[in-house]
Amino acid sequence: MNCIHPSPDEPGFATAEMLFIDPAACVDCGACITACPVGAIKPDTKLTEAQLPFIELNASFYPKYEGKLPPTSKLAPVPDAPAVDQRPYGPLRVAIVGSGPAAMYAADELLTQRGVRVNVFEKLPTPYGLVRAGVAPDHQSTKGVTRLFDQITRRRGLDFYLNVEVGRDITHAELLEHHHAVLYAVGAPNDKRLDIEGMELPGTGTATEVVAWYNGHPEFSHLPVDLSHERVVIIGNGNVALDVARILTTDPDALARTDISDHALAALRDSKVREVVIAARRGPIHSAFTLPELIGLTATCDVVLDAADHELVRRDLETVTEALTRHKLEILAKLAVDSPPTRLPISKPRIRLAYELTPTRVLGSDNVTGIEFTVTGTDEVRQLDAGLVLTSIGYHGKAIRGLPFDDAAGVVPNDEGRVIDPATGNPVLGSYVAGWIKRGPTGFIGTNKSCAAHTVDRLVTDYNASRLTEPTAKAGALHQLMRDRRPDVVDMAGWRAIDAAEIDRGGAGRPRDKFIDVSDMLTAAAGAPKPTLRQRLFSW
Ligand code: NAP
Repeated sequence: MNCIHPSPDEPGFATAEMLFIDPAACVDCGACITACPVGAIKPDTKLTEAQLPFIELNASFYPKYEGKLPPTSKLAPVPDAPAVDQRPYGPLRVAIVGSGPAAMYAADELLTQRGVRVNVFEKLPTPYGLVRAGVAPDHQSTKGVTRLFDQITRRRGLDFYLNVEVGRDITHAELLEHHHAVLYAVGAPNDKRLDIEGMELPGTGTATEVVAWYNGHPEFSHLPVDLSHERVVIIGNGNVALDVARILTTDPDALARTDISDHALAALRDSKVREVVIAARRGPIHSAFTLPELIGLTATCDVVLDAADHELVRRDLETVTEALTRHKLEILAKLAVDSPPTRLPISKPRIRLAYELTPTRVLGSDNVTGIEFTVTGTDEVRQLDAGLVLTSIGYHGKAIRGLPFDDAAGVVPNDEGRVIDPATGNPVLGSYVAGWIKRGPTGFIGTNKSCAAHTVDRLVTDYNASRLTEPTAKAGALHQLMRDRRPDVVDMAGWRAIDAAEIDRGGAGRPRDKFIDVSDMLTAAAGAPKPTLRQRLFSW
């Protein structure tokens, strides 16, 4: 019906905070409701009270187009997958490194066609990247996208090589001996670091580490997260900061019904935290969180603003022109006014949004005791007591051995996913990128679908034009190589065994109880039925 906008070929798709459904074009067939992998589309009659603002927001998007469809975009439209050349001597073989959304969407795009084999390599024994280890546990409907990924894994032609680290267990050059192309969808695993005095003190950390901790990522499960103080300060006000603040202030009994890790739940039950301050260096109009996330936050948590910050909101409301930002400011304007945060403890933990505070140093000698800011653009100094200071100032990509890297942007230089050597301007043959390592750490899970489609378009175009070198290794040799190099490699059956065991451990009350130690994952994977020789040969 073309009733959902912006669509991938329309302005603003890449940066859209939410999608809108045109009430004139929609025929209420409900197809989008069943198709949406994360249950983000609902009939207006099924909205909860907290979701009611979306009706007005949706309606306000359409009048400006006066009955016409939104204008065509300058963005490159999402290409139809080019037909893969069928060659008599074997399929197109692609290695995908990483198994998060960009990786799974790329695999999906490639496997829509005959004559393609995809091997997915992942460092952990479990797939799905930030959907498993990044999306907050109270956002289970978003995690529901894994059902779509599970369907992709059932496509013929896909194999998992989990618990394998590319660069350590197998090199880029070796991958190219077994594949026509290697597509990196490795995300942006590092945090941007804040370079101020005191950031090395115990009691400092990053919000993304805390996210990995409460999501049971094996490398962060044993992180010391000290919740024995009344106040936590988070620097930066993007969606990650909102996620962490929400989890730190939500009733643990509600979180107990999610897949939050047991150690985090126990720590949250003992938590003394009464206030989480989210401190932004700029004003309310520049808030980095998105409108849907703000609506969700204010519906579930107590959120307050100081009187001075309410003044900043009023100031920004006078100048704002963009509709979604105006709506954000209107929500902020309705938040409870609260005097400066001196009246702790309070009964229910709350979140304070604070503006125009530039962090200058973390206070404390053995442990964090607080943080000092200047009021942005002035010499005025403000201090806040806190026992935990977290930075949440964005992610940063990590260089991939053997490929060029743009350190400032944290991405691999590329042209629509085809890796480019900046020294020559030429493509690095057989190397592709998708997701955050291609475009930087922005956007949502769904943004990766069109991002991966563009990359696959370039890859298949190069294959069809015979620009990719034929793999020298025999089909099937990779399986033996990986078993020799990494005897505890986890395959598809192994992952399914881990998945089933986690769901079983979760019992009736939780979606799953995750393993947090790699050794436990490997024990569960070892219980999977081994493929017969016939099955293995048949799969090739
Ligand atoms: P983000 O949205 O880029 O926000 C980064 C924040 O850090 C901004 O407030 C920024 O302020 C601030 N900042 C940057 N450098 C700073 C510095 N040196 N000092 C003080 N503040 C600084 O990053 P994010 O929250 O990590 O999110 C990453 C991406 O994941 C985003 O696209 C986000 O929408 C997405 N995400 C989505 C969800 C969801 O949909 N539920 C959940 C999590 C993440 P300035 O604006 O002033 O630079």
